[in-house]
Amino acid sequence: MSISSKIEEVRTNLWSGVKLVAVSKTYPSEAIKEAYQVGQRAFGESRPQELKAKWEELPKDIEWHMIGHLQTNKVKMILPFVAIIESLNSSRLGEAIEREAAKIDRVVDCLLEIQVAQEESKTGWEWSDLNEFINGGGFDSLSHIRLRGVMGIASYSDDLGVVEADFKRLKSYFDQLKPRFGESFDTISMGMSGDYQLAMECGSTSVRVGSYIFGSRYYGL
Ligand SMILES: *Cc1c(COP(=O)(O)O)cnc(C)c1O
Repeated sequence: MSISSKIEEVRTNLWSGVKLVAVSKTYPSEAIKEAYQVGQRAFGESRPQELKAKWEELPKDIEWHMIGHLQTNKVKMILPFVAIIESLNSSRLGEAIEREAAKIDRVVDCLLEIQVAQEESKTGWEWSDLNEFINGGGFDSLSHIRLRGVMGIASYSDDLGVVEADFKRLKSYFDQLKPRFGESFDTISMGMSGDYQLAMECGSTSVRVGSYIFGSRYYGL
């Protein structure tokens, strides 16, 4: 099946109000163009260099989502054009984003990436650390960051019960944070190729689907 028909298929499965971010990391610009031609505008990338190269080459109305671990020294490279950083996962990164965003006088949308999976290798804030940072007023001085919600990656497991518990945990974190951050805190980014239906059932408002649309990748994150 072609990329465009895969996109159409995922769209028919999406609940109303749920956004599709097509995860194009590792795939060539040609693949992105095919998705673009059927109206897809939001794409997810996980490597700053790759993101920048694709931004330079492709139409400027593409909405680029940074979804991978972002090193503080790479923030500057993507900040002028990235639509949203979904992987804000530490205070250090928050401070680096603040610094670079202030320099170019831009307020940048970000999601708090929170650890929900059972595996230790997963990135993201630990819930207790995040709370400590927030309660200590950590975000108060980061005026060039607009927090839009949360992002999480579920356990890599065939057991849908485990995955569901992770999604529910993220939804509950969102519900607890929402009163602090207000109206614009409206996004729960969860669900990938294999589990986005389940993610929607658990409250996802934005799914990140890569390999189902573009085919299997030959190298990972
Ligand atoms: C690669 C990636 C995805 C997409 O995963 P697929 O299984 O290819 O759909 C989603 N989210 C993040 C953070 C990723 O790195």
